[in-house]
Amino acid sequence: MKNNAFRGLIVGLACVGIAAAALVGCGTTDSAGTAAYTPGTYTAVGQGNFGDVEVSVTFSATKIVSITVGEHGETPGLSDPALEGIPAAIVKGQTLAVDTVSGATHSSEAVLSAVADCVKQAGGDVEALKAKKGAKAAKGARIEKSADVVIVGGGGAGLAAAVSAAQSGAKVVLIEKAAALGGNTIRSGGVQNAVDPARQKAVKMTAPLIGDLKSILDAKEADFGEFAPVVATLKGQIRDYLASGSDVLFDSVELHMYHSYIGGKRVDLKGQEIHSELALVRTLAEGSPKAIEWLESLGLKFNDGIGTVLGALWPRTHSNTKPVGTGYVTVLSETAAKLGVEIMLETKAEELLVEKGRVVGVKATKADGAPVVLRASKGVVMATGGFGANPEMRAKYNTYWPSMPLSMPTTNTADATGDGIVMGEKAGAKLVGMGFIQLMPSSHPVSGALSGGLWGSAETQVFVNKQGKRFVNEYAERDVLASAALKQTDGIFYIICDQDSAGNPQPGSKNGWGDDVDTLIRNHDVYKADTLAGLEEQLGMPAGSLQAEIAKYNGYIASGTDPDFGKRNFGAPLVKPPFYATIRSPSVHHTMGGLAIDASARVLDASGKAIPGFYAAGEVTGGIHAGNRLGGNAIADIMVFGRIAGASAASSK
Ligand code: ADP
Repeated sequence: MKNNAFRGLIVGLACVGIAAAALVGCGTTDSAGTAAYTPGTYTAVGQGNFGDVEVSVTFSATKIVSITVGEHGETPGLSDPALEGIPAAIVKGQTLAVDTVSGATHSSEAVLSAVADCVKQAGGDVEALKAKKGAKAAKGARIEKSADVVIVGGGGAGLAAAVSAAQSGAKVVLIEKAAALGGNTIRSGGVQNAVDPARQKAVKMTAPLIGDLKSILDAKEADFGEFAPVVATLKGQIRDYLASGSDVLFDSVELHMYHSYIGGKRVDLKGQEIHSELALVRTLAEGSPKAIEWLESLGLKFNDGIGTVLGALWPRTHSNTKPVGTGYVTVLSETAAKLGVEIMLETKAEELLVEKGRVVGVKATKADGAPVVLRASKGVVMATGGFGANPEMRAKYNTYWPSMPLSMPTTNTADATGDGIVMGEKAGAKLVGMGFIQLMPSSHPVSGALSGGLWGSAETQVFVNKQGKRFVNEYAERDVLASAALKQTDGIFYIICDQDSAGNPQPGSKNGWGDDVDTLIRNHDVYKADTLAGLEEQLGMPAGSLQAEIAKYNGYIASGTDPDFGKRNFGAPLVKPPFYATIRSPSVHHTMGGLAIDASARVLDASGKAIPGFYAAGEVTGGIHAGNRLGGNAIADIMVFGRIAGASAASSK
């Protein structure tokens, strides 16, 4: 994903090179009448989300003349406002007191720190430039607009809703708080669970998976509440499948529903039980394959290979040909533009307009302070994502984890602050499942990011603690993994891979997130050694511990049983050097609770009645994932329900 698009992008002062103007407009001395910089061009790097961001700065004796952003690996689209806007603001204001761009904080910080480095190299005063305020943008004029459908939030759910509403013939305006579209969706792994016989037929059935199916035959339907008929149908399908003698992977909508149900059924610390809502889960499982076809019709290409993302519980996880979550956002935003959807960036919704019980619009504010009033004749779709980046809100609602420290890092964009939940509740919406927050077990211990490591499918992953010991079935649900990880020394563990399960990295290659593997190794995010003994030594584990543990694990693969933790679905043994260890720790990932909706994505009030004109989709909603979302079900959710919300709003009377 290394992106050279910005090589050659130069932001400069108009007066550079014009002698007369340089003397008048740019001056030759600083305010004290002395030269501020040693003229020339200096280069430095800042640390972005995906490694180094190269920046070159040209100085005259008195000015920062131009800034060029060179090679970097930042996410295309998402980082553009930072990589273009920050240099422009620095040059314009001759200041380092420039705000980071919302939604692209790390990219902004990378540019700011690299420019500061260049200022230092040129003999300038970094602290003075940090203290110098640039000219503040004037507050813009009030904006008023009308549309059929107004969408709040430009992540996956909002964009899917925008495209689907526009495809249904509606005039659509979408507002997004950040300076770029994408939200958590673009930062996600971008994988989607869907029952897909055409692609899944290449997956062979294994004895452990057959064992899983047989254990469902033993389940008591009465234990499944409203899901009992689903389990009954599933049992019939499994019996037919086993009788057929097929060696091709079994899957069905009912099995996807079953996994979502058992993955989400949880009891919190107060003893309250939660499980997924039947109608919503059926809509998700039936809708996800159709959503894939819809996305394909818009130009997104899915890979043929099927995997099991961590915590997905079954091989039905799809990936596409674009890095991480970028494919969904690119394809949907391009389609939205073609369909005439108006997109307003840096526009933060503050309040829903409600008249006679109907939601009729949104009040918002632009980044420059301009008030915005948007009226929606048919409906408003709330798609503002979750509250994973709002520590106070997490602490207020959490009823699942014994502790939810304010300082816990998150995988989320800083904009995931639960705004839509607060606005929706004020407009009369019921909230469901708010106490249940998903921790991503395998996150970067400092930044909380999903990226920054090497691993493959859940079958092939091996987790060990600082003592070199396994501590969990790596194929389990995410809350089981996170809970087990938090009990290890410092809450830290390592994902161990061999050359094959690490994805066969080569010198200079990138992982699936676009991280430069050599940089990860240099920064000790990933450790690499030719032998397990070497890895063990680098990690400071007791001598022989990791070697013995991996030898034991490889033996479990050979016998097909894991007496320690009950893992049943294994990949290949870890035998091919070199070996890798990625350091990981849990961080806040997904907030399962939110606005109550029905299967038509209508927002419900406390009595279960739909609030006229009000729709919602994606992480802002609750009820689908209950106590624990399956890995790969978030993208399925936002594509399915985003699409439904847009169409429902467009057809509202
Ligand atoms: P989902 O997966 O549900 O689509 P995302 O996190 O991908 O959720 O997207 C939610 C988007 O909503 C983010 O881009 C975020 O910046 C945006 N957003 C959050 N709050 C507001 C708000 N008050 N006004 C406008 N946009 C918002």
